[in-house]
Amino acid sequence: MTTAFISHADCCLHNMGPEHPESPLRLLAIRKVLERTGLMQELAEYSAIPASTLQIEQAHSRQHRTGLERQQPEAGIFHADDDTALCPYTLNAATLAAGASIQATDLVLSGARTNAFCSIRPPGHHAEQNLAMGFCFYNNVAIGALHALQQPSVQRVAIVDFDVHYGNGTVDIFKDRPEVLVCSTFQHPYYPERYQDIQRDNILNCPLPAYSKPALFRHALEDRWLPALQAHKPDIIFISAGFDAHQEDPMADLELTEDDYRWATQLLTDLARQCCNGRIVSVLEGGYNPVALGFSVQAHLEVLAGY
Ligand SMILES: [Zn+2]
Repeated sequence: MTTAFISHADCCLHNMGPEHPESPLRLLAIRKVLERTGLMQELAEYSAIPASTLQIEQAHSRQHRTGLERQQPEAGIFHADDDTALCPYTLNAATLAAGASIQATDLVLSGARTNAFCSIRPPGHHAEQNLAMGFCFYNNVAIGALHALQQPSVQRVAIVDFDVHYGNGTVDIFKDRPEVLVCSTFQHPYYPERYQDIQRDNILNCPLPAYSKPALFRHALEDRWLPALQAHKPDIIFISAGFDAHQEDPMADLELTEDDYRWATQLLTDLARQCCNGRIVSVLEGGYNPVALGFSVQAHLEVLAGY
């Protein structure tokens, strides 16, 4: 069954300034590669539907949401912190990004699509219940996972995160929800230095030192993620798909290539086939070299789509 590809042109209107690495060019680079290689026409494309206030407030406090609405400027840019800023179009894009994750969940749980990829921005995994940070405003993957847990067919969810940065927001939201297993690989020590030392049975952290070889990443997934995921028996798997651990990425110091992302996606699709009828919702997080990002997403989608 065809893989869903969910995006929205308005996700490119969110703009934190010409020098900012989390730029609209990222989504354009992904689309360019998928169109040039012909992969796009093999995917079922959907335009994202915005998340509702109620859906966003499953993961975030009302104060968080209304605080962002107050911060959003009518013109220019407002800096929520040193690297996270709102322009007049930010919350529209963030609401579409969160909505894409929900739409992907519905498509996969209904059986209309086996799996789905959300090509969206702003990213989400640093957004905590009450805090926007690290280019993130609403936690897209968490909002999708909480939507999944409201469906009668879903008892347990897994979220796996291979972004080079630790997904502190996702851990903040699910740290006391044992039905949600959160598995992460991330460069350590490194940004964001929040929650990475937490001890919980449902939080599996695999820190990787700077400049470590891809073999260490692969061992973490095979030896640590895989048994934990098999024991958890999720009804659906969410991927916080950040591609900034790529060797060409300017943001960090891990050395993965497209082949590692292809391998990791294969491991996860094989597992999903065993435990949950292949149900995967993958949501874009980081990836700041647009060329490397495009090729990495291509590799990821070729496996999801069964090429
Ligand atoms: Zn990242």
